Amino acid sequence: MASTQSTPDLEEEETAVETARRQLERAAAHLDVDEGVIERLRHPKSVHRFTVPVERDDGTMEVYTAYRAHHDNVRGPYKGGLRYHPGVNEEECVGLAMWMTWKCAVMDIPFGGGKGGVVVDPKDLSGDEKERLTRRLAQELRPVIGPMNDIPAPDMGTDPQTMAWFMDAYSMQEGETCPGVVTGKPPSIGGSYGREEAPGRSVGIVTEQVLEHYDMDPADTTVAVQGFGSVGANAARYLDDLGASVVAVSDVDGAIYDPDGLDTNDVEGHDERPGMVSGYDAPETLANEELLTLDVDVLIPAAIGNVLTGENARDIQADIIVEGANGPTTSTADQIFEEKGIPVIPDILANAGGVTVSYFEWLQDINRRKWTLERVNEELETEMLRAWNAMKAEYEVRDVTWRDAAYIVALKRVAEAHGARGLWP
Ligand code: NAD
Repeated sequence: MASTQSTPDLEEEETAVETARRQLERAAAHLDVDEGVIERLRHPKSVHRFTVPVERDDGTMEVYTAYRAHHDNVRGPYKGGLRYHPGVNEEECVGLAMWMTWKCAVMDIPFGGGKGGVVVDPKDLSGDEKERLTRRLAQELRPVIGPMNDIPAPDMGTDPQTMAWFMDAYSMQEGETCPGVVTGKPPSIGGSYGREEAPGRSVGIVTEQVLEHYDMDPADTTVAVQGFGSVGANAARYLDDLGASVVAVSDVDGAIYDPDGLDTNDVEGHDERPGMVSGYDAPETLANEELLTLDVDVLIPAAIGNVLTGENARDIQADIIVEGANGPTTSTADQIFEEKGIPVIPDILANAGGVTVSYFEWLQDINRRKWTLERVNEELETEMLRAWNAMKAEYEVRDVTWRDAAYIVALKRVAEAHGARGLWP
């Protein structure tokens, strides 16, 4: 993902690691899991810190700090993004690595949770500088990553080109081509078809299931999507194709609104043409905050974290919220939505199409066999429906929130794996 987000995906009143620990406690309260296992899961397995020297274009040297956090690998290699952002720090990497453990587990993907990044504003780097930083980073990270150990992916400030440089540098050092060391690569070097669209597509697939669950006809459903980037545009177009009426979408500069429904294929997404959304000739324009409080059936926050907060949660009029972005709802807002009876479908399931197709990419890489786009989309749908049904079963049996149900599914799987493997020595 080449994100333009200005703030990291953090809770406003909690750090990412505090949020991740709180979710763990909430899920643990519903399960009979050994306290020792819960205690292990409160902490990362390891956190690595690196110093990455890079030659600037003017010949001077800049020294950057990078982190890679490994939370848990009981179910398989660590998996998670690598972000270039000035706000990257150790605690955030640990929290986001924990989220990846739950996201992979709720999808039943045989990966664990990792996350990392470099403390840098990528806008301050030329293309050549970004390439040198990435190649040196690959070299520094080499002892702690690998196709069977930890597989990074694009995140804020990094994109398929970054992954291509990373894979090339790693492969040069290994003496063989290693496409499975990162996912999110261009298809020409082992990237998967459909990877870019996958997180938005999964938001669409899950929303379709939510509508069915609440007996709502897509043809009578109105949708507002904040953030018309990779996730938002693909989710909006999926739902538009399904027959729903997407009445509002936005980018960082503002929202466009048409009560009769926008033609989402006619509006160019952030990646296609930045600034196009707010510049689009629509019947009405709105501020981003106004989009969030529209009286729609489904609200999909798909831009950045912490947009649904204690400040605006009581003003939200949507009947259902499906989280496209990572961490768009603060815990205060979550509580208010629970009181108001607004279901919130959690990010760890809704946008998990990204990591799921990353897993497909890794399978294609290690098997040296490419899948067609049709196969990717078909298998993505199968996996999303499987995960949705697992979450729904917990939701119905335990009378918990959708978020708690997803974490219960995830924790059960991780705890079971810890129980089976045991503690050695
Ligand atoms: P993107 O950069 O493609 O698009 C982001 C969109 O949000 C753009 O339209 C941008 O203009 C808009 N935006 C940025 N700041 C905003 C603000 N302050 N207010 C309103 N709109 C704003 O990013 P993306 O890849 O679509 O990611 C969006 C979210 O989804 C992030 O939280 C990301 O972590 C999460 N996510 C992405 C992926 C992925 O693989 N792309 C996977 C899972 C989760």
